[in-house]
Amino acid sequence: MKNIPQLFEYVKCKIDFVNFLEVYIGCTIKKMGGNGFSCKCPFSDHKDSKASFNVSYKEEDGVWLYNCFGCNSGGTIIDFCKKYYGLETSMESLELLANKYNLDEEKTLNFKPRKRTNWKKKLELAHILTASQCRKLLEKDYNKHSVWIADYYRQLNKALESNDIQSVENIGFKALKRMKNV
Ligand SMILES: [Zn+2]
Repeated sequence: MKNIPQLFEYVKCKIDFVNFLEVYIGCTIKKMGGNGFSCKCPFSDHKDSKASFNVSYKEEDGVWLYNCFGCNSGGTIIDFCKKYYGLETSMESLELLANKYNLDEEKTLNFKPRKRTNWKKKLELAHILTASQCRKLLEKDYNKHSVWIADYYRQLNKALESNDIQSVENIGFKALKRMKNV
């Protein structure tokens, strides 16, 4: 395979993640609001009793992403297959998907991925990270942490709503600092 980056992009953006989960993994998917879907987490190391596993198509980046708040995993369909099938590399994951969907460089040559807004990706990752940190703290001592964490989320949501990226960053840094000192 020659044009690997192109094929990677194609797989992450164009394979219908929901359809893949239904057809190849056997998930029962429920539609949520917007572009979101959810189901019980399919990873064998997570005995999920609720539907903690979310999949959505990120319109602005043109890519499918999943995350599970139960076992703190997330990423693209490449990351998913790597974990689910216990593969060593992303390349193996790509090959597996390319085989399943009968894809090659030829077929994906004309695909143009959307330009990504990097800060949004970073924010999303930061959000997932802090959410899992918060959960751990709340499990450790709910009474001690619930008030300031609720306050942190209020501030964060306000800043996100007004697209105030600088504030989002500042609030995030402050929260991370506080978490480290716990
Ligand atoms: Zn999970």
